Amino acid sequence: MLYLDHAATTPLRPDVRDAMAPYIGERFGNPSGIHTTAQQAKNAVEEAREQIAASIGASRPLEIVFTGGGTEADNLAVLGASWPGDGAIVTTAVEHAAVLESARFAERNGRAVTILPVDRWGRVAPEDVAAAVDDGTAVVSVMMANNETGVCQPVDEITRRVREVGTRTFVHTDAVQAFASLPVEVRDTGPDLIAVSAHKIGGPQGVGFLFVRDGVELEPVIHGGGQELGRRSGTHNVAAIVGLAAAVTASVVDRDRYRTRVGAARDRFEHDLRSRTTIEVTAADAPRLASHAHVRFPGVAAETLLVRLDLAGVAAAAGAACHSGAIETSHVLDAMGIDPVAASESIRFSFGRDDDESTGAAAAQIVSDVVEDLS
Ligand code: PLP
Repeated sequence: MLYLDHAATTPLRPDVRDAMAPYIGERFGNPSGIHTTAQQAKNAVEEAREQIAASIGASRPLEIVFTGGGTEADNLAVLGASWPGDGAIVTTAVEHAAVLESARFAERNGRAVTILPVDRWGRVAPEDVAAAVDDGTAVVSVMMANNETGVCQPVDEITRRVREVGTRTFVHTDAVQAFASLPVEVRDTGPDLIAVSAHKIGGPQGVGFLFVRDGVELEPVIHGGGQELGRRSGTHNVAAIVGLAAAVTASVVDRDRYRTRVGAARDRFEHDLRSRTTIEVTAADAPRLASHAHVRFPGVAAETLLVRLDLAGVAAAAGAACHSGAIETSHVLDAMGIDPVAASESIRFSFGRDDDESTGAAAAQIVSDVVEDLS
């Protein structure tokens, strides 16, 4: 099987599995306790926090809040930052549902929400963001890179522009897709909140973190026993947190090599496909992640193609797969002005750390054969 759906989730790295193993076994303590077993678990959680802070250049480990994944980190950022003082939210039409649905929930509860349009590449204009912000804006949320197309947003410039106008506005970025490829480094001039998820970078599912810059006040989304300095209650998932830290560390160390390999795979894939069949690559000229190829096969229904590809040994994805597994119309492609027919003929292939140029070549061969068969 050629697994080309790394944007959905990635296989657990063997080194991450090894790091987690003791905490699924004999080191089972609850870090909130007093005794030695508990303290062993607490030390593991705090070491993980230090490791992650060091990996992203955060000055204080307590700026890392552990969450149950990227969705929860996004919820905590968007809802947590907008809750105190009825703050307004500014975001874009191409965000992941974790951000968009949080914003919509806040809107139903009285917050002012602005959802900004994007250009044909799916990029928001920094001047549009700045124009939408005023002192009543609590949080601006713009993703680093899109999960469907891989297109990157000018987050640094957006942050700079927002700081010029909204003196009390925090900037959040969803770095869930970008983390494997792009440097995610805390800087004074960078975002105040950054969401990361373990399972997109070789870590376990159901764990992530939110970087929260020192001084950013967040209302918790999950209430309870006051773990994570009250910012996220609930007994820590120690094994998952240890796995998250191992995955973050390995991903940062491997990043350049990863980008070169997935880039070679993706470029060869697109090149070979173009030479064999008719394709349109979405946002081909935009800055985009090296791992993602979003491709339209004119005249071929994505749903049919996906099933046939699966039978031929290639795993890929289309649109946003909802929980029933059905393909929903993509709000991202819609916001980019891509017509529904073109959207329904488009598929996302996303490469991973074990892929290289030969994977791209092999995948292009299978995909073009299947497409030819269907045409
Ligand atoms: N944000 C983006 C851009 C994503 O791609 C995803 C996962 O698909 C998420 C957030 C949600 O992360 P998680 O699956 O860890 O909840």
